[in-house]
Amino acid sequence: MLSENLQNAFNNQINAEIYSAYLYYAIANYYEEKGLKGFASWFKLQTKEELEHADKFANYLHDQNVKVILKEIPKPKTEFADFKEPLTIQLAHEKKVTSSIFNLYSISKEEKDYFAESFIKTFVDEQFEEEKTAQDLLTKYEIFCLNSKDIYEFSEKLGQRK
Ligand code: MG
Repeated sequence: MLSENLQNAFNNQINAEIYSAYLYYAIANYYEEKGLKGFASWFKLQTKEELEHADKFANYLHDQNVKVILKEIPKPKTEFADFKEPLTIQLAHEKKVTSSIFNLYSISKEEKDYFAESFIKTFVDEQFEEEKTAQDLLTKYEIFCLNSKDIYEFSEKLGQRK
């Protein structure tokens, strides 16, 4: 049985994952409205991925016969200073998610809940990839996106990624 402490932490993590989806959906809509469909489709993929993360945490709770508690989701930022800002926000946000996953991981270790520990470890690995991907996108943007034409072409290429 999952401790009350871990139950709360898992439910909070579900909220955080859905907030990530909401934030990335806001970013997808921003790019779509600005005519950058490639960036939009990339962020829609991220949105789906975050919802899958939420679902994995929820399924873990179901498997342990623990009730999933859905909380309010804060309104994400919907306007951005320029096309680069959402990428900076994504990287900062993923770092925040990492610290929240680290927190979950350390609680599971402290409580010697090895099932939870093993489950959360997959998200530790996932966060390594998430930070790397977000950093990579930002770096490439800085190198290649020097004018509107570059940004458009970069967006088109990004839209081809699956
Ligand atoms: Mg996630």
